[in-house]
Amino acid sequence: MKISIVSGKGGAGKTTFTVLFANYLINKGVNVLINDLDVEEPNINLFLNKKLEYDNIYTYVPKHIKENCTYCKECAEKCLFKALVVAKDFWIVLPELCHSCKLCEYVCKYSAIEGDKRVIGKIGQSVDKVPHLLEGRLNIGESLTTALIKQVMCKSSNIKDNYDIILMDSPPGTSCPVIETSKGADKIVVVAEDTPFGFSDFVVLNDMLKEIGKDYYLIINKFIDGAEYLDFVAKNNIKILGKIPYDMNLARSYSGGHNMGVSIDFDSIYNTLLEGLR
Ligand code: SF4
Ligand code: SF4
Repeated sequence: MKISIVSGKGGAGKTTFTVLFANYLINKGVNVLINDLDVEEPNINLFLNKKLEYDNIYTYVPKHIKENCTYCKECAEKCLFKALVVAKDFWIVLPELCHSCKLCEYVCKYSAIEGDKRVIGKIGQSVDKVPHLLEGRLNIGESLTTALIKQVMCKSSNIKDNYDIILMDSPPGTSCPVIETSKGADKIVVVAEDTPFGFSDFVVLNDMLKEIGKDYYLIINKFIDGAEYLDFVAKNNIKILGKIPYDMNLARSYSGGHNMGVSIDFDSIYNTLLEGLR
């Protein structure tokens, strides 16, 4: 079972939930694989402190073959991402804008473009397997977040049969990277915080998940009274999976990268997530 853990905003508690739930599952004897897909700021391993072995991850980038080029500009005009600049006797690719679609190579009639590759980040894999961690880590300044997430998910897919449950800690927000981590999941857990900002971003995330046809379960973090949430879920028939109390000790443990002791009914969460999959 693949469970994607998502949130409308950063700091809502995805990682808190992922780490706590993973610990619960391990104590239960469940074979867990964690994918840290928050590739711009992966932080699961701050809590697990595992030894990771990294492999560089590459993406396609066009390479110019000057002697064949007529400087017709066809490639630059067709590039949807404005990643090519062509002028008289001048051709340059802006790698950070290039989305590796290969269209420029396809449209060039003069064989003046060929494929090259460049590093966009790396994937770390834990040496020991309990739990097994796959971590995507995007290079600083790099924009191909979704490309790296896809590569982590591909690696995860290749070994998925060794695990009972895969927990996917998604990036925050509602853009392409979150859609990527949500669309292939068996279950989605939305972690939202009990603040006005948290609720506002949760509503946007709700709309996005409905748009892609995904149901979800809700965890309310930093729970005080959850008034706005309780009203919203009642009107929209959304299932609340659990509540994590507003607790300064939990916040201190989290910010120190320590184990977080908190009382949550994980038996109920686990059984609810398994419903329909047994
Ligand atoms: S389409 Fe080919 S020939 Fe034309 S400018 Fe681009 S690389 Fe050069
Ligand atoms: S591979 Fe695609 S995005 Fe990159 S420069 Fe070529 S056309 Fe543009």
